[in-house]
Amino acid sequence: MACATHWTPAYDSDRYQHMEGETPVTHTNTSTAPFPILGTLTPGTTQRHMVALPGAALADDRWPVTSICGVRPGPVIFINGGIHGGEYPGIETVIRLGMMLDPQELAGTVVLMPVVNLPGFRKRSIFVSPVDEVNPNRVFPGDPAGSYSEQLVSALMNEFIAHADLYIDLHGGDIVEALVPFSICRQADSPADRKALENARVFGLPYLLTVDRPIQPAKGSMSFVAAAERGIAGFIAEAGSIGQLDEDSVQLLLNGVFRVLRHNGMIQTTVPSVPEPTLLTAFEWIYCEYGGMFYPAVSLDDEVKEGQSLGRIGTLFGEIIEEVTSPLAGRVLFVTTSPSMADHGLLMGIVVAE
Ligand SMILES: [Zn+2]
Repeated sequence: MACATHWTPAYDSDRYQHMEGETPVTHTNTSTAPFPILGTLTPGTTQRHMVALPGAALADDRWPVTSICGVRPGPVIFINGGIHGGEYPGIETVIRLGMMLDPQELAGTVVLMPVVNLPGFRKRSIFVSPVDEVNPNRVFPGDPAGSYSEQLVSALMNEFIAHADLYIDLHGGDIVEALVPFSICRQADSPADRKALENARVFGLPYLLTVDRPIQPAKGSMSFVAAAERGIAGFIAEAGSIGQLDEDSVQLLLNGVFRVLRHNGMIQTTVPSVPEPTLLTAFEWIYCEYGGMFYPAVSLDDEVKEGQSLGRIGTLFGEIIEEVTSPLAGRVLFVTTSPSMADHGLLMGIVVAE
């Protein structure tokens, strides 16, 4: 179902577009400008855009965005990677979708932004944008007059997420993290929350976490929470680890997106089925008190007992100054793989399954 697209010179300094011209276009898609910032999308075409986002701090950059506008009407889905610039399988998945989805076989519209946090991608920053050292996924829905990351997520919300019927935010373990693939959505009972949960189940990663409160104290919320507050169904899907571009994780994420597209009647492609995700009922993030060298005592996906040692912190003279124990019985969902730990550094996340 590959669809050849070719880069063409700009006819507009702010926005490049390429339209497939060889196949006669059937204008049956009723929504041809679902995202005003992208202009009119032509049914039956894949278009590549270099988008100028609103916000004074964003003025010097352009964001690659691919739109695939199907020949038939259907839902509008927005998918991004790279809110964290070192989570490469998610980024690669969005890039591949732009090449694989065939507008001639698609009902509805898929819009793709491979990397939201472009400065973080370029500088290999971990968790944050290097411009303001802020984690963009803690300041949703953003602020058009705020810092760089606040302006960035404000533009993402207003120009993309708010115009979608469904939003998928792809993540993974960052450059210093390993994790078991999982999805997250909000635990609430609005139509958007129910739709997000349904699609996250269909996506089919091994674990599915629903949250009813912030995971970390922060100025703002996470992407899927802000989406739900605007009435948009959204969820995060995470796969991949430690700065690696591994094909298994890309395939997990690609198949998840294809399952969702098929579930929503947008494609007919058959995707291998997977077991129902294990629902997670609690999620505790474990921090050390003192900085130093971190020596973990458990591995990813290990089951741990309450009170069990999770690891130790040593000084740079080799003295062990802290032993961190688990406050609950559960399973290690993610672990920090870098031994370099600041005071109150994040060590790992422990989850409890139903
Ligand atoms: Zn992330």
